[in-house]
Formats: sequence, structure tokens, C-alpha cells
Amino acid sequence: MKICAFCGNPGGNVEHIIARWMIDRMGAREYPVVVGFRKEDSLKSRPAHRLHTYTTKAVCEKCNSGWMSELEGWFQRNLGLLVEPVWPKLATEILRTALSENTQLAKWALKTAIMMDTNTMMKNIVDERAAHDVREGKLPDALVVEIAHVAESGVGGILSQGFWVRNGSRPPEWQEHKEKQAFKAIIQLNHLAIRVFCAPTARATYYGLNGRLPLRCYPEVQDPYNGDFRFQDLFEFDRVLEMETWLGA
Ligand SMILES: [Zn+2]
Repeated sequence: MKICAFCGNPGGNVEHIIARWMIDRMGAREYPVVVGFRKEDSLKSRPAHRLHTYTTKAVCEKCNSGWMSELEGWFQRNLGLLVEPVWPKLATEILRTALSENTQLAKWALKTAIMMDTNTMMKNIVDERAAHDVREGKLPDALVVEIAHVAESGVGGILSQGFWVRNGSRPPEWQEHKEKQAFKAIIQLNHLAIRVFCAPTARATYYGLNGRLPLRCYPEVQDPYNGDFRFQDLFEFDRVLEMETWLGA
């Protein structure tokens, strides 16, 4: 029997990973959802799901209709316009307003990443404790959340346990944290991409083309009027992030 990834009680219900309100808003019921699992340069994906069958049994009804539903409500009210097929003209203003409650965004992103994590054929990238904590409203110390506008629209994501890490002048190497304290997940919802990652003891650096960098949303908030966070596709957004001198590996 499946247990709930967040509270440990029996799961077993079929719950949507991408909420139904969002599927409708994305205009994407029949969209293929591709979630890849990255390890170094390889990206493994299961055959595409259709959005309305992209589900998990590892969430209980109580969590789904309680605290998770509250987070969905927050996202819908504050960022719902950004998942529609056309990126709105007022996107920068919408983001600025939403980011005044950036902890809500961070919780939403982490819980969604954990739900995606329950649906891959790989080992989970996020450890159990982080899942239990987010249910209680607590976020990992080293958590970072970033947003990008992605020109190539799509629905899906990329999960990885490791990062590209640069030590001094050597070429970057792929490293994974032994105790799952480090992970990275990207969620793409039409033109909106959200990255949530955790890499204790490492420093995030960015190699963005033409000064394009992700919009930092958590823990600190960058003003969306002072940045260019447009990327061509999800892979460019994924690859722009590297770590420097990771002591934890
Ligand atoms: Zn639960």
C-alpha cells in the first residue's frame, strides 16, 4: 500500500500532480507531460503522460484537500495568469505582487516537486524529512527558488539529485550529495518555469548568455523589473546554474 509522502498516513487515492484548475487554465488537458531525470548529460524520461492522467497515489486525501489545496489556491490567485498559453503583458507586475508572499511560492514549488518525485521510476531525490517538514510549513535552510520565462512552451520538468560543480579553474564535474540533502527540480507550466533546489555548503553561480539570469524568488526576492529572466527552453534554464566548490559531496 502506498503511503502519503508528506504525512506517512495511508495514501492510495489517485491525485493529480498538476492540479485540475491549472490544467484547465493552461488549456492543456491533452498535452504530453514530459518529466526527465537528469544525471550528468543524460536525461531519462518515461513515455509522456497526458496531463489529466499525470497522477500519484503517494498523497493522502487529507493532505491533498487540506494544506496542499490552500497552496494551490494561493498560486491560482497570485500566479494563475502566468500559466496561461499566452504570457501576459502585466507579468512583471504580477510577479512583483506575488513575490511579496514568496514563502508561499517556495512551499508550492517544493510540494509540487515532491509530487513529481513520487512519479518517476528513479529513487526519490527529496528526502522524507523535507516532505514532512513542508506539510508543517517548514522549508529546508538551503532552499532556493527561481523563476524564468521560457520561450518554448511546454509542460513537464526535470529532476536531478546532483549538480554541475566547478572547483577552481577545472571544468565542471557532476556531483551528488550522499544523503539527499541536495536536489534540484524544474517545473514548466507553459511559459513559466520554476526551479527549486537545495545545495547546502555550495554557492550557486550562473553562466547566463547576454546577462540573462533566473529571477531569484526565495529566500531573497529580486525585483522582477531589474532583470532579464527570459530563456529559450527548459534545457538552457537548467544548464545556466552551477555550483562552486561543494564541500558536502
Ligand atoms: Zn498525507
